[in-house]
Amino acid sequence: MLIATMTIKEHINLAEYTTFRVGGPARFFVIVATEQELVEALRFADAKSLSVFILGGGSNILVSDNGFDGLVIKNEIRGMSIKEADEGVLCTAAAGEDWDTFVAGSVAQGLSGLELLSGIPGTVGAAPVQNIGAYGSSVSHAITEVRAYDRQTGSFLSLAPAECHFSYRSSVFKKEQGRYGIVAVTFNLSRLQPSLPSYPDLVMLFAQSASPSVAEIRSAVLSTRAKKGMVILPGYESFRSAGSFFKNPIMTALDFTALQERTKAQKTEWRCRTPWYWNMPDGTIKVSAACLIQQAGFSRGFRDGRAGLSDKHALAIVNYGGATGEEIKEFSKKIQHNVKQNFGVILEPEVEFVGL
Ligand SMILES: Cc1cc2nc3c(=O)[nH]c(=O)nc-3n(C[C@H](O)[C@H](O)[C@H](O)COP(=O)(O)OP(=O)(O)OC[C@H]3O[C@@H](n4cnc5c(N)ncnc54)[C@H](O)[C@@H]3O)c2cc1C
Repeated sequence: MLIATMTIKEHINLAEYTTFRVGGPARFFVIVATEQELVEALRFADAKSLSVFILGGGSNILVSDNGFDGLVIKNEIRGMSIKEADEGVLCTAAAGEDWDTFVAGSVAQGLSGLELLSGIPGTVGAAPVQNIGAYGSSVSHAITEVRAYDRQTGSFLSLAPAECHFSYRSSVFKKEQGRYGIVAVTFNLSRLQPSLPSYPDLVMLFAQSASPSVAEIRSAVLSTRAKKGMVILPGYESFRSAGSFFKNPIMTALDFTALQERTKAQKTEWRCRTPWYWNMPDGTIKVSAACLIQQAGFSRGFRDGRAGLSDKHALAIVNYGGATGEEIKEFSKKIQHNVKQNFGVILEPEVEFVGL
């Protein structure tokens, strides 16, 4: 079916569009390369009363083998611009740009602000959706504006950071899934010396260097991520996952004390790497989900049929070949069950289920 300049295809297998390499057919599927095409695609969906799913790089989703009975819009809107401003350097990238290519470009220009987020797969447009984060940084710290099409009002708008309601792995775009089609994101970057990383893995690497460059920090982040299997680089293509499957649970000090009591009462040896929890500025405690998963009996590399845990990181569920979306979801439920039984903690998925 040809609409304006786009071809709307039917029954397109989604597995090849996800990093899990899992997923059945989309009833309708279209690639949009301009803002106008996005609007046309959404009008097509409205006219047919179809559900809509906006797809980036497919690196944070688990799709059912029954597929998606609606319109999948793959965002490939491209373009970047850079503007010097009093407060820093404003870099804007269209939603369909590859996230890590954009980060690499900013680092090559000596700009700081995104270097700790190097190596995260996916697109620029998805970065604000779950407020991507790593190594003590999150993208909301650098975002100054998100341009999006609001399906509720039928118009484009610019959202300031406060309107995005960013929180840990969440935002208004995640909470109101399907309402906004993000088309561009603007970041405020800096030409000043980057601050020294505070995350333990990186602190050790920079013990001898008081003022590492952005390029040195990026390179350290990439090699640390590679050791944990948290990149999709040459040699890692077969690593079929969506990165961290669960969020790290955040709890009150009272609940954390109860958790500590429970761990002491258990007879099994406590094998978690230090630190396995972090004190947050608001007084809450963030606990390592990977630690709880391992203590609940799932070691790295543990397999349950065709699904299992990464042998490099206990937080990543991996499709070891031919697993269905349903099998992976089932395995994730077993992990949730055991962690709840052992520690009374409910692990919340970070990965989004589509059609599951
Ligand atoms: C190996 C690996 C490592 C990872 N490491 C990290 C990490 O360190 N930190 C982290 O936070 N995440 C990490 N992730 C998860 C993932 O890379 C990020 O969440 C990423 O931002 C998803 O981008 P994507 O383009 O693939 O989005 P998709 O998976 O395609 O979509 C994710 C969500 O964003 C929505 N979306 C996508 N594009 C748009 C748009 N233009 N407008 C509106 N909504 C949109 C989708 O509808 C969906 O709800 C990792 C994943 C993998 C596979």
